[in-house]
Amino acid sequence: MLFGGARGLLVIDPDRFAPWTYQPPLVISELRVDGVERALPAHGGPIVLAPGERGLSLAFASLDYSQPGRNRYRYRLQGLDAGWIDAGALGRAAAYTNLSPGGYQLRVQGSNRDGAWSPHELLIDVDVRAAWWQTRWALALAAIAAVGLVGSIVSMRTRLLLRHRRVLEARVLERTQALEAATAELQRKSVELEEASLTDPLTGLRNRRFLDRQMPADAALALRHYEPLTDAPTPGESDQDLLFFLIDIDHFKRINDAHGHMAGDAVLEQMRGRLQQVFRATDYLVRWGGEEFLIVARGTPRGRAAALAERARQAVASQAFELEGGLRLAQTCSVGFSAFPLCPALPRALDWRSAIDLADAALYEAKEAGRNAWVGLLNADAPSEDALRQDVRRPLDCWAGSGRLTLLRS
Ligand code: GH3
Ligand code: MG
Ligand code: MG
Repeated sequence: MLFGGARGLLVIDPDRFAPWTYQPPLVISELRVDGVERALPAHGGPIVLAPGERGLSLAFASLDYSQPGRNRYRYRLQGLDAGWIDAGALGRAAAYTNLSPGGYQLRVQGSNRDGAWSPHELLIDVDVRAAWWQTRWALALAAIAAVGLVGSIVSMRTRLLLRHRRVLEARVLERTQALEAATAELQRKSVELEEASLTDPLTGLRNRRFLDRQMPADAALALRHYEPLTDAPTPGESDQDLLFFLIDIDHFKRINDAHGHMAGDAVLEQMRGRLQQVFRATDYLVRWGGEEFLIVARGTPRGRAAALAERARQAVASQAFELEGGLRLAQTCSVGFSAFPLCPALPRALDWRSAIDLADAALYEAKEAGRNAWVGLLNADAPSEDALRQDVRRPLDCWAGSGRLTLLRS
């Protein structure tokens, strides 16, 4: 190609153009560690970062000055970077912060102005030293210590929880025992209270309340032996009869009048012992009124009623009562009794309360007969329940006179 000009001729021969094959060397122009400039290690030795030093930056330059703007650079830290990092023409620096302890190799490559990578690659070893606490031994020890710490925390916590549990269990046991004791005490008190509510405080005998509670079951049991469906025993032969004895101390008022109320109380108290001599522990001994006692002999054949009445009369009359100051007081009593059921053929015609009324009527008879005596209704017969109920309203002598009542007298 020829170009003419005022000053001459320009001749261009394309065959004389050769590609740019210059392979520039690459040099490190600056090394900084944690921002502080540092001299490059001599003889290609490694760059050493002491424990605690983490930041590394290296500036480099390709020595092709023909068109430096077209020089390209790339670098790669072996051991950290997965591939090459292109730095371009202007970013002539490789910078790393927070490098972990270990050995690395920094590779830096530069190109000439045509972009051909120079074979003059820079290889720089980088040794990031570990602090003592970053060594394997320290890490292993730290791991063991951590495991030990976790283990001891777990065992401490377990021990604490176990102790807590034991304390709680002990407390629960203590409370349970206290509660059980309180419950037992409450039950004892309740039994005591129940007992007290059924007992006469002066004599220690049972009271009317006790009788009201017990009698329905006893009466039912006695009646069952006379039910038409069962083999009804011959009257007088059942050992399941109930015998009601009303015992009244004769002229008791005179004791009070002559010796004072306390003396009367002393006699009443001693009556308990006298009655216990005659009747069984399973019989009901009840203080019925002031100086009146009701005894329910249970499961006793009526054939024994007269003998029991006589023994009761004698228990009072045969031995004097002891009063304060050595005073001895002879007393007698009157007894009225009635068997239940009075009419075995019609067992349900009269209830147990009627039996007590009849014993009371008999007691009245004994008083009328001169006291220190007993009168008893042993057996009755009637064509019907109505007839029996009418008989009950008649005077005892009259009823006995009709032949439908077996009346016994001492
Ligand atoms: P009778 O032979 O007719 O039964 O005559 P009595 O004097 O025994 O009967 P009465 O019913 O006339 O009198 C009973 C007396 O018993 C009257 C009352 O002051 C007395 N009395 C009732 N309860 C008690 C008590 O708890 N203690 C004492 N000391 N006396 C009582
Ligand atoms: Mg009396
Ligand atoms: Mg009386």
